[in-house]
Order: sequence, then C-alpha cells, then structure tokens
Amino acid sequence: SGTRLPLVKIKPAEVDAQIKKIKQKSQIPILIGTTALNNTLGKAIRLEGDNPASFIVRVDEDTVRIAGLSPEGTLFGVYELLEQLGCRWFVPTDFGTVIPKNKTVSITIQQTVQKPSFEGRCLQGVMEQCRDDKYKWYRRMRLNGGGVPGAHHIYIGDANFKDNPALFALVDGKRVDKQLCISNSEVLSRAIEQTKQFFRQNPDVDMMGMGPNDCHGFCECENCRALDGGDWDPFTNMVSVTDRYVWFFNKVLEGISNEYPEKYLSFYAYDAYIRTPVKVKPDPRIIPAFAPLRLCSIHGMSNPVCPERYHYRQLIAQWSKLVPRFFERGYYLNSSGFPLSFVAKIRDEMPLLKKIGCPRIRRETSPHWGSMTPSIYIAAKLLWDANSD
Ligand SMILES: [Zn+2]
Ligand SMILES: [Zn+2]
Repeated sequence: SGTRLPLVKIKPAEVDAQIKKIKQKSQIPILIGTTALNNTLGKAIRLEGDNPASFIVRVDEDTVRIAGLSPEGTLFGVYELLEQLGCRWFVPTDFGTVIPKNKTVSITIQQTVQKPSFEGRCLQGVMEQCRDDKYKWYRRMRLNGGGVPGAHHIYIGDANFKDNPALFALVDGKRVDKQLCISNSEVLSRAIEQTKQFFRQNPDVDMMGMGPNDCHGFCECENCRALDGGDWDPFTNMVSVTDRYVWFFNKVLEGISNEYPEKYLSFYAYDAYIRTPVKVKPDPRIIPAFAPLRLCSIHGMSNPVCPERYHYRQLIAQWSKLVPRFFERGYYLNSSGFPLSFVAKIRDEMPLLKKIGCPRIRRETSPHWGSMTPSIYIAAKLLWDANSD
C-alpha cells in the first residue's frame, strides 16, 4: 500500500500500556516477537511441539500478534503473514519476487500455528549460492542448514601416506592414498582419538559425520575383506562394503563410550555401502543418511514403473528395521542445465519421508534458476510443509 508503519521497540513491562495508547488512536498494533508471546499463545504453539522454528500468527479485530518459539520462528511467522497477503519469492532476485500492490491491506481473523514438517531442511548447492543478500531468500523459504553432517572422511590425525602407507588401502597389491585400511588397529585407535577430540572441541554438537572418501578404492587386504558380508551390490557391481564400515563405526562408538556414551555417528548410506549390513548389527547410535546417487534420480519412490526408486524405498525400509534414526541426503541434480522438472518427485517423496519419520533432509540441488524453477521453490515449500498443495 506504500504506507510506512512506525516501528517501536517496547519492553515486556510496557506492552499493555503501549497497546492501550495505540488503540486509543484507533490504530491496530502489530506485535512481533517476545512482546507478542503471552502465555496463552506460547501454550498454543507448544501443543504442536517444541521446534524452535514454530510460530503463531494471531489476528484479532484490534491486534495482530506474530511470535515464534525463537527469533527464527518469529521471522517465519512474519513471512507467513506476508505470503497470506500475496507476497511470493519464487527465485532470489527481483525477477522472482511478487509484492502485490493494494490500496487497503486486509488480514483474515485467525489463529495459525505452524511447525516445520522436517527439523532439517536443506537444499545443498542452493544454500551455498544464497550468500549475502540472496540469503534472505533462503530464509524466506524457511530453509536451514539441514543438520546432516558431511561424512566423506575418517579423521586419523597427522598420519600421512608417505610415512604410514600401512594405514591406507591395499588396491591391486599396492598401498594407495584413496581409502583407509580400516581393519588396521592403528587406524581405529586414531579414529577414536580424533572423534573424542572433535566432541571435546564441539561440546554442543551431538553427532559427527564419518565414512569412506568419495568414492571407490576400498582396501583389498585380507583382514578388511574378511569384514565384508559377501552381499553383492548389483548397482556398483561389487561386494557391498557396508558390513566393514558398520563394524568400524561400532568400534569407534565403543571406543568413545567411556567419555561420550550419548554421541552419534552419521554416515552417508551411499554407493557400495548403501545396502544394509548382513552380518554386523549396527550400534543404535549410528545414523545413516541415504544418498542414492547411483539410483534413478528422476522419479519418486512411489512411481510404479521405476524399479530403481522402488529399490531405494526397500533399502530405507530395511535400514529402518536396524537403526532407530535415519536422515535423507538425496538429489535434485540437473547437470546439463536443460529444463527439468522434479515437481512430481518432490510431491511424491516429501509426504512419504514425513510419513516414515525422516527428521532431516539435505538434498543436493543444482542451483540453476532458469532450468530448476519451479522445482527448487516447490522443494523448499514442501520441506516446510510436506503435505502442502
Ligand atoms: Zn585393509
Ligand atoms: Zn526412474
């Protein structure tokens, strides 16, 4: 409407007096943040859960209140009200921004409480591209860092390949600097020490990412191969190496237990270690993050004519029987840059992932706004509300 509203910071103790003053002038106060959050509204949000990104928009005839369980929640509440007024941010430039012009701004009387469908909502690639001013767009889409840690590494401290070749993988009869020889007890003790160090340095972090380097070159020594379960993976055309790595993660968790019994290890269930282990039982503190790069990336898991995506769904179901928690670290990749729609896949898989209890999603996404619009926008929207239309 072009009207500029006066912005006032008020202390909690002054809220009632201020509201009275504003109402006497026949104006409608819009209370934002802690000033808006009284006990009743706080309770109404908490009935839906305690995710800090949750918020309430309460519109009465003479007051508008927007409050979240955190400053972030309040921010998302503000975006919600703006979207109700017709504002849209399809892509992070003026070109994708819609701000309607209305002579009068009308807001529906309401009590709207929202919480995110997923606590982790990350579009990797897009997030990195949305720096500086574009970051506003990422927040307007209510996305975050996802909370799925990077896991293409096993830290072993200062041991280098030249001086310690025995710690590294034996491939075609030669030690090579690609993967580690994880059956080597020194690799394990070093990994345990590095993991403890990580948690000492990051006391507030409850999990660490760990796993093979991306991608092959797994150790072929007798002891490492003896850890495998002999389970053939037809997509990598080799024996699955999940068992040996789950064995290793179990040992690391066992090794840190005296100091950190309640920390987690998350690894990418990916490539030659996406299949479930067949002989080792994973420690319940292991969290797989499914990364199905070798499987079809076009269709959704419910697509009746996509055997690869069906296989992916079965893999998730099999893992869910072995571990209490899992994440999804899938893909919306479009390397060619030609127009490609992921909308059907997004609409199929987000409600499904919500239904099967996946709390965090980080999808690697090509940030090509020309060819990936509206897929990126739709993905962001469904990460917030998996069942939105
Ligand atoms: Zn080995
Ligand atoms: Zn397919």
